[in-house]
Amino acid sequence: MDYALILTQIAAEVQPLVGKGRVAEYIPPLASVRADRFGMALRTVDGAQYATGDADERFSIQSIAKVFALTLAMRLEGDGIWNRVGREPSGSAFNSLVQLEVERGIPRNPFINAGALVVLDAILNHGDDLLLPFIREAAGNESISYDLEVAEGERRTGHRNRAMAHFLKSFGNLQNDAGRVLDAYFRLCSIAMSCSELARAFSYLAGGGGSIATARQAKRVNAVMLTCGVYDEAGDYAYRVGLPAKSGVGGGVVAVMPGKFTAAVWSPGLSEKGNSLAGTMALELLTTKTAISIF
Ligand code: GLU
Repeated sequence: MDYALILTQIAAEVQPLVGKGRVAEYIPPLASVRADRFGMALRTVDGAQYATGDADERFSIQSIAKVFALTLAMRLEGDGIWNRVGREPSGSAFNSLVQLEVERGIPRNPFINAGALVVLDAILNHGDDLLLPFIREAAGNESISYDLEVAEGERRTGHRNRAMAHFLKSFGNLQNDAGRVLDAYFRLCSIAMSCSELARAFSYLAGGGGSIATARQAKRVNAVMLTCGVYDEAGDYAYRVGLPAKSGVGGGVVAVMPGKFTAAVWSPGLSEKGNSLAGTMALELLTTKTAISIF
């Protein structure tokens, strides 16, 4: 498979969509990112890596980091984590308070905000600051870090997330102080990585877990990504792309083809549902051109 050629073709074919859509605007460091960026990286399970466009520029990975949080929580807590959070698509906004009320404080899945807060709470029971070292371990890169300006923006504007944390607390599904969990959440959203770094960091999910997770855990994280990884667009993603994927409001998306490769893409213009417009098209083109998908 000539992945280098395929990435070059994809970069050319998505151009009409690059710069389209809306860039996340709720904090200045995201609002000021130029919309006309596009990068993509692919890493095979053998460790060969390919890249095109702005693949080496770091961006705010936002909710993509929730995958690392879930993996670490599964490592630390095993299946116990599923007593506190579900694994069904939410069918509503990633920051819905209504659903949490109706479902008595058990978040639908670990990738909506309420679910991520519960996952972080579970991790905090094992110690402070476990997540960044874990992400660095997965990435094989000690320079991965928080973007403090983004973290500050999250903190300043995170009223709904605050409401959610206290809501969870009122239902008894948050064991640590809500402020401590929120602080971990705001920092998690602020991790900055490039497509190349993400493709490498997610490679444990394509390679049966590697040293990061067991094969069983990797399979399950992929399953949750397939059904819950791309906001309220999981059906469309499965249909068009056919790979487990996780997106973030920074315009990044990472997709996993178990046994073959990981692909990370970034373009900040978002669809109505909050997924990168050009990024989604790029992943659709990838599975079309390679004729490889989980289906
Ligand atoms: N940081 C934002 C929030 O918690 C968005 C995270 C995302 O979905 O990428 O509301």
